[in-house]
Amino acid sequence: MNRPADIPERLLMGPGPSNVAPSVLEALSRPTIGHLDPAFLVIMDQVQEMLRSVFNTDNPFTIAVSGTGSAAMEAAVDNLVEPGDRVIVGVNGVFGTRLVDMAGRAGAEVEALEFDWGTPIPIEAVEEALKRKPADLVMLVHGETSTGVMQPVEGVGALCHEHGALVLLDCVTSLGGAPVLLDTWEVDVCYSGAQKCLSVPPGVSPLTFSDRAVEKLESRKQKVPSWYLDMSMIRNYWGENRAYHHTAPINMIYALHEGLRLILEEGLEKRWARHLRHAEALWAGLEAIGWEPFVGQEYRLPPLTTVRPPAGLDEKEFRGRLLEEHDIEIGGGLGPLAGQVVRVGLMGASSTPESLLRFLSATEALSGAPEGAAVDAAEHLLAQEGV
Ligand SMILES: *Cc1c(COP(=O)(O)O)cnc(C)c1O
Repeated sequence: MNRPADIPERLLMGPGPSNVAPSVLEALSRPTIGHLDPAFLVIMDQVQEMLRSVFNTDNPFTIAVSGTGSAAMEAAVDNLVEPGDRVIVGVNGVFGTRLVDMAGRAGAEVEALEFDWGTPIPIEAVEEALKRKPADLVMLVHGETSTGVMQPVEGVGALCHEHGALVLLDCVTSLGGAPVLLDTWEVDVCYSGAQKCLSVPPGVSPLTFSDRAVEKLESRKQKVPSWYLDMSMIRNYWGENRAYHHTAPINMIYALHEGLRLILEEGLEKRWARHLRHAEALWAGLEAIGWEPFVGQEYRLPPLTTVRPPAGLDEKEFRGRLLEEHDIEIGGGLGPLAGQVVRVGLMGASSTPESLLRFLSATEALSGAPEGAAVDAAEHLLAQEGV
């Protein structure tokens, strides 16, 4: 036992974590300093500034929550929901279901707008629900990682505000991998995670509140039910007071800082285009060997593809051999999609031509497809100009 842990080298092409750039791992290994050290406070300020750029927002309240995406999700729900509030949740996968659970635990009266897994939530359904009975908050998942659907959100913010409701958007899988335009969309609460398209190890999670959301937080009649995730206190650490609440995960913040720096250095638009281009090549390759995309092209989430393997292929055995023989990780289906689809991620540092071609080549070999059939189709697409 008394030796360092044995950690294999993997190509991470599942629903997260994604591969981490060497400079991010290097940032993680720098010397730990104090959470109130003036040098650390500068790093926090820079992280906030970069998060605003990546979220496309001017929200002063923009921070990194200590914990994975679910912690930021719970922070968003627990701080914005008061017992008795009416909350509408779009449910078309695992993460909408999780939001329903969290909102219920926070004491909300929840209406779940359920739609088929693999399809988006129609905006008209949100409008009808608001017209039927006013709500305090509407919750939607932008990138539903369990199904690979990207939810159209243009116009939702204005619609909700017209009806006096705030709007929450889960951007855990879309941030850094597809357009996220919070201020344009008038989103009030948004969170993400580190290990999806930001390509930072899991453990810290972006969270932002609009001024409307901060107002709601400030006018609460009851304390936020979670002490650890109480943003009315945590604001005092990320804000001017710098009041101690809990010890910040110092080195994780270094890693996030470097991850965000790499994103802005690449440029958001370029990064979104890169994710889309590589996803399109993946789709072309898989379709060429008879794998059927689960989601219609119009609603596909570029960072995460769900696809049905050809009949007769045991997806669990396929994933096992992919990992053992090729060191490539992909995901299985969740909930009702278990055994039906596999989930292939091309997120952040994992979204490269090399990774998708390596995956397609291994898939040809493991599924008995003609050698080169998938790779050629993907390469053909990659060779096209301006895709
Ligand atoms: C991964 C994910 C989460 C949860 O994040 P964790 O880091 O696993 O806690 C929430 N929402 C969506 C859409 C996700 O993909």
